[in-house]
Amino acid sequence: MPEPPDLNPGDEVKPGTPQSGEHVCPACSGFGQVAGAPCRQCGGTGRITALIGDA
Ligand SMILES: [Zn+2]
Repeated sequence: MPEPPDLNPGDEVKPGTPQSGEHVCPACSGFGQVAGAPCRQCGGTGRITALIGDA
């Protein structure tokens, strides 16, 4: 049974994708909240998953 997608809007790639890693969410600067509400880009985690690459 496939796992349901667990992506936040700010995630560029799925967690576990090769050459990806966690970055501080640019929308909330890692606080996980924007204007007192949970950040929608990172789902309130303050971090997003983005491709790093090896360039
Ligand atoms: Zn955020």
